[in-house]
Amino acid sequence: MGIATGSKFATSACAALSMSEFFKTHVVEADPLIGDALVNELQRQQTQIELIASENIVSQAILDALGHPMTNKTLEGYPGNRFHGGGEFVDVVEQAAIDRARELFACDYVNVQPHSGTQANQAVFFATVKPGDRILSLNLAAGGHLSHGANPNLSGRWFKAHHYGVDRETGLIDYDAVERMAREVRPALLIAGGSAYPRCIDFERLRHIADSVEALYLVDMAHFAGLVAAGAHPSPLLHADIVTCTTTKTMRGPRGGLILSRDASWAKQLQSAVFPGVQGSLHSQVIAAKAVCLGEALGNDFKRYGKQVVENACMLGQTLTEHGIKLVSGGTDTHMVLLDFSARGLKGQQVQDGLARVNLTSNKNPIPFDSTKPSEWAGLRLGVAAATTRGLQVEDFKLLGEIIARTIERCEQKPDNQAKEDLDKVLELCERFPIYR
Ligand SMILES: *Cc1c(COP(=O)(O)O)cnc(C)c1O
Repeated sequence: MGIATGSKFATSACAALSMSEFFKTHVVEADPLIGDALVNELQRQQTQIELIASENIVSQAILDALGHPMTNKTLEGYPGNRFHGGGEFVDVVEQAAIDRARELFACDYVNVQPHSGTQANQAVFFATVKPGDRILSLNLAAGGHLSHGANPNLSGRWFKAHHYGVDRETGLIDYDAVERMAREVRPALLIAGGSAYPRCIDFERLRHIADSVEALYLVDMAHFAGLVAAGAHPSPLLHADIVTCTTTKTMRGPRGGLILSRDASWAKQLQSAVFPGVQGSLHSQVIAAKAVCLGEALGNDFKRYGKQVVENACMLGQTLTEHGIKLVSGGTDTHMVLLDFSARGLKGQQVQDGLARVNLTSNKNPIPFDSTKPSEWAGLRLGVAAATTRGLQVEDFKLLGEIIARTIERCEQKPDNQAKEDLDKVLELCERFPIYR
């Protein structure tokens, strides 16, 4: 074995010692730059209230799975049909994840391997449509998602994407317009679901529209999957041919995606579309974390959680409305509200920055018919899923709504010392509802 002189592995005894350190030293010591960033990130999460609608806070059990040496295991294929040896324990977790998702969403077909929601959608496209085919989905300003045929996304380059929108007055999907567009466009695939649509979607109506033009029907329930799991939102599984989602967001699990279908008619194509179609080996430790997440979602605590999320979002929406803040669609049926500042001349970025000064984390967002330039967006998206996980109740969301309303007023004037009082109130909430102590 050629060993460089002066290297810290110069003798085999030393090498053995080093290797024992290698398996023992924590990141704060081993790599201070990254270690400090991790410590700071935890502290950031502990001392702010997360209101980004796509975020949540996972359990210690899920963190355990994510940080487990199961990450070392490389496997391709599916349980019972692998390309590598040593997969018996990963088979246990993948099969458990599949069985739990089947029970949770009352569906026959489940694929738990997609590395993210975007990859889940990509696999569905790979299984069901061909480059050049027409797809019809919700437009971005109305709350659609990039992976549904937006120009900069692969889906927008490979497919002829057409988009439906919402009614200017109501902010609700204009189903008559969807029907007219479907007749005109004759899409191979009709997609429902998005990232900033705060209302229930009429899954059944869209099923009829898809049938009338013989389109396949995909529902991407990334945002509201956890509410479906908890029984706090209608399930698209009865109506859609295929359903995709993330295990993050309201599912409160690890970063990753799922593909579901009530029957197995697309099973063969979907299995090979995920692997070897668009992915290689699975992320073993993430599959374990997904199994834990799905197990949690089957419990009664999660049902209570889902119900609380919807109640909290309603209270937040109601409080903001009472303070004269306009909401797209006038309210919410889900975990999110979308604030519309167009009539006040404020930009989403200003309010996002104002909220950050009182330790509330949020994101600017386009509202329907908004500019395509992020700096011009007149909206802000807020979600209650993460704060509800901390334990915040409706009265806490009334307080948060008041703080947000005052912050918006401050954004219209000069920042004043009132912000300090509101910051203290937010910090007090963080103290009262601690995470990862
Ligand atoms: C978040 C989201 C996705 C993408 O999930 P990633 O895991 O970020 O790739 C896909 N579709 C919708 C509707 C989403 O909201």
